[in-house]
Amino acid sequence: MKGMKLNIFLIALFLPGVCFSQNSNDCIDCNVSVVEEKENKVSIRQQSLNYVQKCSKKKSPDGFVVVDKDWSALCKKEGQVYIPEHTFYKIKNTDQGKIKIQGKIYLKTIDSKGLALGREKKDFLIQKTKNCQKEMNQYWNRYGIILDFDYLPVNDRPNGNNAFKGDLANTLTIINGGGVSNSRTFYYEGLNQEVTLPQGQKIPGGPGQTCLKKCEEASRLTFFSAIGMGKSACYDFCTAPRDREYCLMMLHEFGHRLSLEDEYANDLCPDRFVSQENNPYSVMAIPYVGFFDVPEIVPGISYDSNLLDFYPRHLKKILGDFCQD
Ligand SMILES: [Zn+2]
Repeated sequence: MKGMKLNIFLIALFLPGVCFSQNSNDCIDCNVSVVEEKENKVSIRQQSLNYVQKCSKKKSPDGFVVVDKDWSALCKKEGQVYIPEHTFYKIKNTDQGKIKIQGKIYLKTIDSKGLALGREKKDFLIQKTKNCQKEMNQYWNRYGIILDFDYLPVNDRPNGNNAFKGDLANTLTIINGGGVSNSRTFYYEGLNQEVTLPQGQKIPGGPGQTCLKKCEEASRLTFFSAIGMGKSACYDFCTAPRDREYCLMMLHEFGHRLSLEDEYANDLCPDRFVSQENNPYSVMAIPYVGFFDVPEIVPGISYDSNLLDFYPRHLKKILGDFCQD
């Protein structure tokens, strides 16, 4: 799926009059749709913000509700018809017309063989995951929501193996290696072995093999050679976006922790609602959209957080128990 999107993107790159940047001056034909897209984004965010503000105002400033529920997604993709999930978080009102979503996330860190990591890598991964809350809040704050989770090592989880169901559901495993992340398992590829370039320059902790492969394939095309995008440049190029992808992956997977379901098409999940929205794309449809490829392979086109939003339906699902709409 991602590969197909990539090809369409590359083909589009060579077509005249195709608009990639809203700042592009040589793209007159696109101006009308750019204005429409901007209005679309404003209205989607405004609807969500109105919902949160209205809810906050009608409740007591110190009002709260604990969401603690089982739910399941109808899907056969993991060999089972229903994928069980448990959601556990606190919705807390504030006196500033905003709503906080709070809880504790327990983090288990292992390497790709399931073995324990050294102290330094473990601390790094916990810190890295914790820091993503700031990036996630760049999205949530648009709607008057503040994510306020504590990220703790799994050893701090109460009652050992007898932890509450909610605590178990909020226990996430971070694997230092490559793979496909899901709501409970996050893969971080940023701590690969140090790379030494032919010139002797050492690049710590990267870059990701997937990005390298794509970048090297792309560099064989005339366009990339013409702008000096040779093979060695791929090492530099692939590190930063991969790091950013970790927080974007988490934005999506954390949506599941807050009771949101996937919204990308999958033949094995025929009953799933599939988001057809674009610009902004639904965060829960990211794997379908596949735009992660763009900043990885096309220099000069950087990832834009305006491409992504949660929609009013997501806010209603997450806050419904408190806002009782
Ligand atoms: Zn998902």
